[in-house]
Amino acid sequence: MTTFEPGQLQDLRQRLADACRVLGVLGLASGNTGHLSVRVPDSDNLLIRARGPAESGVRYTTPAEILEVTPDGEIASGAAPGLLPPQEVFIHTEVYRARSDVTSVVHVHPPTVVLFTITDLPLLPIFGAYDPGALKIATDGIANYDRSVLISNPKLGHDLAAALGSKHVCMMRGHGITATGASIEEAALRAISLNELAEMNYRARLLGTPRPISDEDLAAFTRVGSAPQMSNRVGALWRYYQRFTGIVEG
Ligand SMILES: [Zn+2]
Repeated sequence: MTTFEPGQLQDLRQRLADACRVLGVLGLASGNTGHLSVRVPDSDNLLIRARGPAESGVRYTTPAEILEVTPDGEIASGAAPGLLPPQEVFIHTEVYRARSDVTSVVHVHPPTVVLFTITDLPLLPIFGAYDPGALKIATDGIANYDRSVLISNPKLGHDLAAALGSKHVCMMRGHGITATGASIEEAALRAISLNELAEMNYRARLLGTPRPISDEDLAAFTRVGSAPQMSNRVGALWRYYQRFTGIVEG
């Protein structure tokens, strides 16, 4: 039973739909493929973007297209004609089962990141002050899942969660990414940062041979992470992306 206020649950549906739209507009999720989820507070259930004939596509997701599902991936509430849990709901259920620190999961298929999973080329820490958030993705370490199958059952979800381990993001060979966070917005921003890191590595390889920044500079950025200017980075940056993508006018 959910003891959460219905209005607060609706707020989570709206935030989840907004995050889907932001990632869709930014090109991290094209067409209908991709889904985001968040834990329902005081419950083992999760909210997740639905798939099926009645969906609008990631970029146009509405709160009405968010389903509440059980830890086994079954619909708990929000059932509507033509809307079903994604086949890959088990990415979400099994990551939550394995990681109590994770509140939100993003699964999308950004083309540039997928190119790196196909070629086995590393995502190098090639910049610093240009984008410290994306640099942090590289220095925190990125997990890899070597299969290209749909994560369509709990066993495959378990394997993916094992591959993710204690990392924040996982690159899935010939498929896409799974990003996690302590909030919807943090998970979405990690997906955006991973994509930016891949875009810059890709473009650097077009020009020549990318050269990682020095260990000294990497260490300096680790220290910068605790500076007051970096506090509540998620909130400020998310407001930017909401306005940049037109999800929120301003
Ligand atoms: Zn997928």
